[in-house]
Amino acid sequence: MDRPLTVTTIGELRDRLAEHRAAGRTVGFVPTMGYLHEGHASLMRAAREHDDVVVVSVFVNPLQFGEGEDLDTYPRDLERDARVAAAEGVDLLFVPPVEEMYPEPVLTTVSVAKVSEPMEGAARPGHFDGVATVVAKLFNIVGPCRAYFGAKDFQQLAVVRRMVRDLSFPVEVVGCPTVRELDGLAMSSRNAYLTPEQREAAPVIYRALRAGAAAIAAGERDPQAVRELVAGIIEAEPLAELDYVEVVDADSLATPETLQGNLRLLAAVRFGRARLIDNVGVTV
Ligand code: AMP
Repeated sequence: MDRPLTVTTIGELRDRLAEHRAAGRTVGFVPTMGYLHEGHASLMRAAREHDDVVVVSVFVNPLQFGEGEDLDTYPRDLERDARVAAAEGVDLLFVPPVEEMYPEPVLTTVSVAKVSEPMEGAARPGHFDGVATVVAKLFNIVGPCRAYFGAKDFQQLAVVRRMVRDLSFPVEVVGCPTVRELDGLAMSSRNAYLTPEQREAAPVIYRALRAGAAAIAAGERDPQAVRELVAGIIEAEPLAELDYVEVVDADSLATPETLQGNLRLLAAVRFGRARLIDNVGVTV
C-alpha cells in the first residue's frame, strides 16, 4: 500500500500539496497529536468524504504543554498511527520533528482573548496560546483547506474558529461529534493512562454531564444549581477528582446569569495522572 505517504518536512508537504492543488483537488486537514483512536478516525472519514486529498498531522506540540504536564509521557506509536491513517484512506501523514516546527524559540504567538480564558484556559495557563500558535502555523503550512476538529475539545474548537475568523485564514473549520466508548467515556489518547479501576469509574463524567443537561431540559435555569448537581455526581466517585464543571453559552463560552439558548456543559476531571475533559450540549 502506498498510502499514506509520510512527510517530515514543511517544504515537502508544501510541494506535494501544490501538485494536488494544481490538479484542482481540494484538501482536507486533520491536525492531531497522534496515538490515533476512533475519534481521530471519524475526523479522517469526514475529510475523506468531503475532500480529494486528506492530510493528517501528528505532532505533540510542546508549546501547548505547561510546566509539570505530560509532554514527556504523552503516548506515542507512529507505526500504529500510520496503520490507522492507511485504513481511513489518508493520503499524506505529516510528522514533523520538533526541530522542523520550532528550529528556534518562537517569538511570535497567537492569542485568542475571551473564549480561551475560562475553563481549560484558566486551568492550563498558556495552553490555548500554544494551540492557536501551532494551528496557525499548520494552517500556513497546509494552505487553503477544510480542517476537521472534534467537539470533544469544545473550547479548542471555539478558539480555532475564532482565530480563523479574526485572522481571515483561508480555512473552513468543520466541527465533528465526540466519539465515545460503549459505556459513554469520550475517546482520548490520555485514556491510556487509566488503571482498570479508573477506567471503570471514568464514564461518570459523561453520566454527570448528561444529568446536568437533563435537569436543564426539565426546566432548571440556575447555572449554579446545575454545576452543583454535576459536581455532586462526579464527587461521589472516590477515584475522581473534579477540576471544574461549567455551564456556558455555546458561542461566547461566557457563563449566563440565567440559562437560555444554546448551552454547553463542560467538565475536567482527574483520575490519578489522567486529566480528562468532556462536554455535552443542550438547547433551551
Ligand atoms: P488530539 O490528538 O487529542 O490533539 O486530538 C486531535 C483532534 O481529534 C482534535 O480535533 C480533537 O478534538 C479530536 N478528537 C479527540 N478525541 C476525539 C473524540 N473522542 N471524538 C471526536 N474527536 C476527537
